[in-house]
Amino acid sequence: MRHHPDHIELVSDEELVYEDNWALFDQEEYPDFFPEDTRSLRSYTSEDGHYRTAFATRESTTIDGVPEPTGICLIKDEKVVSVTETIPVDKAIPANDGSVVAIGRDATKFIAFDPTGKLVLEEEFESNAGPITISPDGRFAAVTTAFPDNAAHLYDINQREYLGRKENPSTTVVKFLEFEQVTDGYVVNTYDIHPESSLASDVDPGRTEIIDRIPAAPISNSLEFDGAGIVVEGETWHHIKKETMEDVSSDLRIPGVTLDTSCGRVIEPLHADLIFQEVQQARQSQYEICSDCKSGLLSYPTEKVEKQGHKP
Ligand SMILES: [Zn+2]
Repeated sequence: MRHHPDHIELVSDEELVYEDNWALFDQEEYPDFFPEDTRSLRSYTSEDGHYRTAFATRESTTIDGVPEPTGICLIKDEKVVSVTETIPVDKAIPANDGSVVAIGRDATKFIAFDPTGKLVLEEEFESNAGPITISPDGRFAAVTTAFPDNAAHLYDINQREYLGRKENPSTTVVKFLEFEQVTDGYVVNTYDIHPESSLASDVDPGRTEIIDRIPAAPISNSLEFDGAGIVVEGETWHHIKKETMEDVSSDLRIPGVTLDTSCGRVIEPLHADLIFQEVQQARQSQYEICSDCKSGLLSYPTEKVEKQGHKP
């Protein structure tokens, strides 16, 4: 599913059709949204071609000064089947079942609708949000954020569940993402640049490659993973919570100082093989995290988790 916007002309009568991109609406059914008998909107098409969205990126008025509200129309096989008034939208993408994900023009609000046009998800981000995508079956949705968050956020929109946040491993921001069906479900592929971008091929072909493949499944919350890491004897490191570290002086290798690990052991740093002041250093080292520490640390957020900028 490669998302490219089209323009679409919505008309009340087939007599009014004068170009290929059109769909019919019933003016009696949607009088407020279509005060005139035509309206020109932006559009995206589902992977199988049956559903299209039509949406307004800003409020407008007719020549007679009648306001035309913003919202998203769902079109099935060239006929408007629902109209949902909502915020000005920058992008609204339909799945093959008629579910729709959209991103507000303000780049902070991420919304999703079921095939009847009912709102099933509304999320607001501090970082600029978008690109967005929806799985072809309409079950999963994903949105990426710019800095400081710079991550992908996944949702199960059928279950109305947040699946978690995955930090973007690249130093840039995600410019495009799409679901790919795999044997046991879906993964989201993220890209540094749109894979069909003509800009990329000349400058750096590698930029069109996938940056990250994220399974559409609950994602543990790595933001909570701070503190220190300590290698006691040889092969594994144990996690020390940040609060525990704050309670002791910076010089840990003093006789009598003890620390509680996340797995419940009490250790003396004096006898530790190695001390990593930052968990990230421990994670990047050759040592594995102790499995009991790990199972105690992993948490699966039920609400959106977002990295905030440092306040001055
Ligand atoms: Zn441990």
